[in-house]
Amino acid sequence: MNPLLLDVPATEWNLPAAEPWRQKQLREWIFQKFASSFAEMSNLPAPLRSDLTGRFRLAAVEPVKIQGSEDTTRKILWRLGDGSLLESVLIPANPGRAGDRSARLTLCISSQVGCAYGCRFCASGLEGWRRNLTAAEIVGQVLGAARIAGRRPDNLVFMGMGEPLANLPRLCAAMETLTSPEGVGIGARHLTVSTSGLAPQIEELAKVPGQFRLALSLHAGTNQTRDKIMPVNRKYPLEKLIPACEVFVRAKRKMITFEYILLKDLNDDPAEARAVVRHARRLHAKVNLIPYNNVEGLPYERPTEPAIRRFQKVFRDAGVEATVRREKGHDIDAACGQLRLREEKTALPS
Ligand code: SF4
Repeated sequence: MNPLLLDVPATEWNLPAAEPWRQKQLREWIFQKFASSFAEMSNLPAPLRSDLTGRFRLAAVEPVKIQGSEDTTRKILWRLGDGSLLESVLIPANPGRAGDRSARLTLCISSQVGCAYGCRFCASGLEGWRRNLTAAEIVGQVLGAARIAGRRPDNLVFMGMGEPLANLPRLCAAMETLTSPEGVGIGARHLTVSTSGLAPQIEELAKVPGQFRLALSLHAGTNQTRDKIMPVNRKYPLEKLIPACEVFVRAKRKMITFEYILLKDLNDDPAEARAVVRHARRLHAKVNLIPYNNVEGLPYERPTEPAIRRFQKVFRDAGVEATVRREKGHDIDAACGQLRLREEKTALPS
């Protein structure tokens, strides 16, 4: 199988040396017109198009299924070159406002096929890790989603399938292409990297240039509770994790976000919230509370509305910002990895 063009350094594309403008044309087709084949590149000479087609693949992802409509959250199931399945989610700022194409568009992207971290509440971890995505496959989700949406997404969140920081070199290469003016050109501050808590890699990420954001999937305030739902906590408990986040906050001078999935009778006790308040104060973090989305095959439940309000009140009383995020994709299998799991269990179109 030919390599993906965007996984090969531009110096090795072997474009005609006498025509230095060809690289710019190629980039315009890829990053501004979101071309999915070299054949579409009408201002490139036919022999060059066929030469590129013979040496490289352009589209890293092929849409297999799209759930949802233009005005709502759309979940996209992709197939990669090796047949693996992957998900991205397109989220308009105001879903339901019919025909509003000016609404800001956020794309949630995946960084690995499957995931090794096995957070108990997550569908992506159910069948383990298969492989890292290449940088071109990460960027390819953005280009593919732009083709579907008819425009470039405004914000990118690395919160789909996989642990982005377990694929740090490819993630950094992809972020460079995504933020570069010669690439997709999305401002770094519109990128959010989410992690389950790989402390050493958080410190590594702090050294990567760019004002991107960090979201920590905290999901518990104490080691005792976090150990139960996130195996990664045994390796990097809170006493390692919180100082690593401090390094990031100091380096970037940016507020971080705690993501907190609320699970009935597991992490929804106000005492847990008080522990989170202490971490949030130390890091000046804000908190996103996400009432759990039921996942087929997993035993967890969403807390009751009064329990959610009781939990949120602890933050309000402590003066820490905590919003309850109603999952916009609740009705379309938005828990990460759910659509892929469902598709893999049924026969797939080939
Ligand atoms: S929540 Fe993230 S890190 Fe945890 S298993 Fe799911 S994809 Fe992996």
